[in-house]
Order: sequence, then C-alpha cells, then structure tokens
Amino acid sequence: MPASWSLTLRRAKGCRAEREPCSRVRLCYDPRPFSRPEPRSSRFLVDQIVEFVLKANNAERRILSGMRPTGRLHLGHYHGVLRNWVKLQHEFECFFFVADWHALTTDYAESLDIEQSVWDMVIDWLAAGLNPGSATLFIQSRVPEHAELHLLLSMITPLGWLERVPSYKDQQAKLKEKDLTTYGFLGYPLLQSADILVYRAGKVPVGADQVAHVELTREVARRFNFLYGREPGFEDAAELAIGRMGKKSQRLYRDLRKRYLEQGDGEALERARALLDEQQNLSLADRERLTGYLEGGGRLLLPEPDALLTESAKVPGLDGEKMSKSYGNTISLREVPEEVDRKVRTMKTDPARARRTDPGDPEQCPVWSLHKLYSDADTRDWVVEGCTTAGIGCIDCKRPLIESIQQDLAAMRQRARQYEEQPELVKAIIAEGSEHARDQAKETLEVVRSAMGLGYR
Ligand code: SF4
Repeated sequence: MPASWSLTLRRAKGCRAEREPCSRVRLCYDPRPFSRPEPRSSRFLVDQIVEFVLKANNAERRILSGMRPTGRLHLGHYHGVLRNWVKLQHEFECFFFVADWHALTTDYAESLDIEQSVWDMVIDWLAAGLNPGSATLFIQSRVPEHAELHLLLSMITPLGWLERVPSYKDQQAKLKEKDLTTYGFLGYPLLQSADILVYRAGKVPVGADQVAHVELTREVARRFNFLYGREPGFEDAAELAIGRMGKKSQRLYRDLRKRYLEQGDGEALERARALLDEQQNLSLADRERLTGYLEGGGRLLLPEPDALLTESAKVPGLDGEKMSKSYGNTISLREVPEEVDRKVRTMKTDPARARRTDPGDPEQCPVWSLHKLYSDADTRDWVVEGCTTAGIGCIDCKRPLIESIQQDLAAMRQRARQYEEQPELVKAIIAEGSEHARDQAKETLEVVRSAMGLGYR
C-alpha cells in the first residue's frame, strides 16, 4: 500500500450503513489518498496547557496529605497529624486521603482487614474535627488516576532514585517479618509522588523523616517538565518572550539566568523569578515559559511541591515508648472514660520516684509529655514544682491531666457516635470527596497524556 494511503474507519462510499448508525464493528477500506489530519497539538494543546498552568499557579494554596488505614486512631495520630490537618483545612485548599493502596505495599498479605480500617479511620478523622465542607476527604483507590500517573512516572524514574530513598532500607530492616523485596514496596515513594502531583499540590505537610519523599517528588516533577514541557521551538519562543520585556529587564534577566545556570547562584534564581512576577506585559504562558527557561528546562507542567515541615508532637505511650498500636500502649480517640482513667493512672512515671517522698524530674517522665500537650501554664508550673520537691504524688499529678484528656475525648466520642450510627453518611462524604478529587486528577492526567503524546482517543 502506498505510504500516502491508509486504512481508515471512514465508511466507504456506497456503504449501506452510511445513513444509519453502524451496529457492527466494520472496517471499511477506502483506498482514496489519505491526508494526515492536523496533529492535535499546536493551538489546542497550548491553550490547554496554559489553562492548566493557570491552575497550577494555585498550587501554593493546595495541600495534599494522606494516612494509611490502620483502623482506630489514637492520641499519637491526633497530636502527630490530625490536629495539624484540622488547622490547615481552614488555611488552605486541603485534600486528605486514605492511602489504602499504600497499605498494600507492606500489608499485602492481610488485605482483607483494610476495609474496616478505612471506615474506622474516616470516622476518627471526622470525630477529630475534619470538616468535609472545608477539606476534600477521599479514598486513594477511588481515584484510579493515582495509579495511571504512577505508571507513567515510573517510565521516567531511574531505579537508583527509589533505592536511595532512606525509608526503603530502614523499613525493610524494621519489618523483617515481612517480605518487602517487592516491586510495590520499592515503588511506594513514587506512588506518593503521583499522589501529590496528580493534584498539583504545592505543599505537603510532613515530618522530618518524610522530607526525602517530597524531594523525590520534586526531582520527578522536574524530570517530567524537562522531558515533556519542551514545546517545539521552546528556546525560540523563550527568546521572543524575553524581547517582550523592557530593555533593562531583558538585560537583568539574561544576567541572572547566566549566573544561575553557570554558577548555580540560588539568589540569582530567586531575583529572576521576582523579576518575572513584576512584568506587566508578559502573558501567563510567556511568564511560565521564561521560568522554565531560567532553570534550563521546559515549561512547568507539574509544579514542584514544597515540604511543609510540621513539628509533630511526640506522644509517649503508656510505657514511655512512642505511642503505637504495635506496642499496645495507646489511648484511642474513642476510648471509653473508665479506660482513659485506668490507663493514665497506671502510666509509667519517672523511675526516680519510687516512693512518694522521692523527688523526680518531669523531663524523665512520659506523663509530663502529656501535660505539655494538655495542661495550661499554671498546671505545668504546679507539676514542675510538686514533682521536683516531692510536694505532690504521681497520682495527684495525673488527676488534672486525666480531666483534660477526658474533656477532649468526650467531644470526639460524641461526634464519632453520630457517624457510627449513620455509616451511610460517612460513605456519602467519602463518595462526594472522591468525586471532587477525581475531577481534579482527571484534569492533570489530560495534560500529562497530551504532553507525552498519549492524548489520542
Ligand atoms: S509527679 Fe508527675 S511529672 Fe513527676 S514523676 Fe510523677 S507523674 Fe511524672
């Protein structure tokens, strides 16, 4: 067949199905010369990308964070993560998700427990004060775009980047009883990257131990932008855009770009970005083009997120170790009052206070760590004074703490009860959140596919 001819699905002339919908899958051979259709690139793609970039500019206001479904949550989760989420939901556009696929990366052999854990955890989120009117709450597996983006990013991510993530070796060493030499486990930081990038989130609240994961996400986004953010004639378009700035700004931009590219001068990069922000006569597309040109890359398709370092409070368990379900030392958010009372009363204290008359040191006592979270300044002063002089006993010291914890948990138990009684309400909240999240994720995938040349239907 001549190269200029092609098989098409166009109905051949004379086909009887021409005037009616074709009910059969039929391939009609039309031997007329076939002119290649205009690629779906140029204007359409550019417009779409600009539209996308506009949204990407809101990335600074968007937060993404997730939690593996571990069932009922405890005070460690509340003070370590949830309390911060409750605050953030009023300050940013927040997407909080149940990372059920992440649970499979280590617990693939016990996957039947995941469902109950998901709903228990969502009830605890709501009980702790997450508001579906302020934040989008959803389940990762309800948004299959996470998986698609993960797959696409896996094509461009060097293996060494994943092997280098500190948690890869750490977790394998810690969870020796599990076989974590799996593809899923190696790739879970990249799944996290996809989780973040699929929402173009600009900020990711993490503890210090998770910063490496955000850094990986930044590297992956940068690589993606470098590979696919290059429109044909990118350099020429960037040079034209430079010409649209005033003479002085042009000179300054070129100078700062040179300093950054040749000497890695970070300050020059910041100044050049600020310079672009000030330019009134640049279109948004040109501004983004010049931002990419500045760094030697292409246009920004996936914004690089920043780690929002959160100082998560260290919550000791009943035995003084870190509060964790696997240590059996927790106080859960829906713990009944009698159990809260019993657990705090029997909680470990400073071993130096063997007798009531022995003075102690609050810094050696896990109860003191809870006082720091629950007690006001006066109570804390009273504890320090009483403990170090043996003026109070440990039971006296624990009494106001128990009261404060009970007060907090009573409100949570009450909120949890209404959701326990209406499981369909919880499911509706998640269904709505998942739908909203999916709409956002679909937009990203449209652009990602188009940029990679996979936008065909
Ligand atoms: S008095 Fe309070 S702070 Fe001091 S050891 Fe006892 S429980 Fe801990």
